Amino acid sequence: MEHIETDVLVIGAGLTGLTTAFQLRKLGIKTVVIERNAEVGGQIKSHRAAGFIAESGPNTGVVSYPEVAELFAALAPNCTLETARDESKDRLIWKGTKFHSIPSSLLGAIKTPLFTWPDKIRVLAEPFRRKVSDPTESVASMTRRRLGKSFLNYAVDPFLAGVYAGNPETLITSYALPKLYRLEQEHGSFVRGAIAKARETRTERDKLATKKVFSAQGGLDTLTAALATHIGEEHIVLNASQLRVMPHGKKWVATYTDAAQNEQTIYCHTVVSTVGGYSIADLFPFISAVDVTPISNLEYASVVQVSVGFDSVGSAKFNAFGGLVPGIENRPVLGILYPSSCFEGRCPKGGALFSFFLGGKRNPELLQATDDEIKELINTQVHQMLHLPVTLKPSFIRIFRHSAAIPQYEINSKERLAAIKNIESDYNNLHLAGNIRDGIGMADRIKQGVTIARKIQDNIKHSNRS
Ligand SMILES: Cc1cc2nc3c(=O)[nH]c(=O)nc-3n(C[C@H](O)[C@H](O)[C@H](O)COP(=O)(O)OP(=O)(O)OC[C@H]3O[C@@H](n4cnc5c(N)ncnc54)[C@H](O)[C@@H]3O)c2cc1C
Repeated sequence: MEHIETDVLVIGAGLTGLTTAFQLRKLGIKTVVIERNAEVGGQIKSHRAAGFIAESGPNTGVVSYPEVAELFAALAPNCTLETARDESKDRLIWKGTKFHSIPSSLLGAIKTPLFTWPDKIRVLAEPFRRKVSDPTESVASMTRRRLGKSFLNYAVDPFLAGVYAGNPETLITSYALPKLYRLEQEHGSFVRGAIAKARETRTERDKLATKKVFSAQGGLDTLTAALATHIGEEHIVLNASQLRVMPHGKKWVATYTDAAQNEQTIYCHTVVSTVGGYSIADLFPFISAVDVTPISNLEYASVVQVSVGFDSVGSAKFNAFGGLVPGIENRPVLGILYPSSCFEGRCPKGGALFSFFLGGKRNPELLQATDDEIKELINTQVHQMLHLPVTLKPSFIRIFRHSAAIPQYEINSKERLAAIKNIESDYNNLHLAGNIRDGIGMADRIKQGVTIARKIQDNIKHSNRS
């Protein structure tokens, strides 16, 4: 039987795997990607119908690192970075019966009804508050300590619902928000840290990290499709089931069942896994239970995303990025994004497209709700929250259920990261990547892919020398 031989086998054709493989091939390193699904993209998928472009996974990312801008530049003209319109900058938080803007000026901060007066005054003292060094502290505890309860309820809790679909009482700052954690550790305060960061000299490359909200022109799956085109379809194996990877002398052997139900084999020098924590034990059966359990234990929040489109919204204006909902407000929605306000061509002219996020750690039971139940919920919330007339019905509605959407970087993260380190040091040329570490956002995934490709290049250079 024929088998494939390659330098690197990348497992998973999501954004991490495709970025890693793209970089490796650019560096001249023979790479094959293997994926169990029938198509590339992983969590990224854009759906086009009736003039709408809806995302079933991520809608937007942030250009947090130069690697994001560099990746898009390298993929041109097959895919184009699109940053959100300036008019969509406003970010909203639900309180009472409507969304309120997050203040962006001193006057706005004084006038906002989101935070209490004692907390508004308390925040002025944040730069002088004692630093605490506790890498196991929850985001909720850190926020109460430095900013006050109303900032937890009406800023941090909804923010974490939007990013992690998670709970601030269980997410750990040093793992879930490492940049914020470092501000306190390195500068003693968020405010002082932010000022110091703003004053840092930035190289031309640093400036590529604009911190702007991004998508790809025409939908995010043009990014993963462009990556696949550059990698070359002949180097991507789809529909691979029962994949198992085992050490094979100084190399690795991967076996799988192909679409025609034939057993196939791949030999390689290096393996990069980008799969979720729940797949690692089956994929690498040689790893001991002691080592693998802290990785398998990584919990993922479920998310139901509902894309809701209107052909026309009359004179209603939605000039914002979207709105997030604090848990304390007891609504069945985590947040609503306004993709058609951010990006071109996401809906018919005069219409609007919204992305409702439901479930998460707050309402996990919504994953089991029927389509009819979800549609009823959406119809009610469209009118109550977006204040569209009851007579106006969406012309487009798609429900996307994700049982393992977002990994929760909680208290067991220390053990998980230690286990990954142990396994990687026990087995040469095995990289356990993906969102089990290094961040959950698309920018984190791109940066990780670039970093791993460079590391593999260094390892190859090193082994060629010795
Ligand atoms: C609903 C939702 C909303 C999100 N919103 C945002 C957002 O607004 N901004 C943002 O930056 N990020 C967001 N994210 C996160 C973002 O989607 C991810 O960071 C990114 O897409 C993950 O890419 P990945 O390649 O690491 O993982 P994945 O996309 O999960 O790719 C892993 C791949 O591995 C494959 N695989 C798994 N097991 C095996 C196996 N045994 N054999 C072969 N293949 C296997 C899977 O099929 C999959 O294709 C969101 C995610 C979801 C689900």
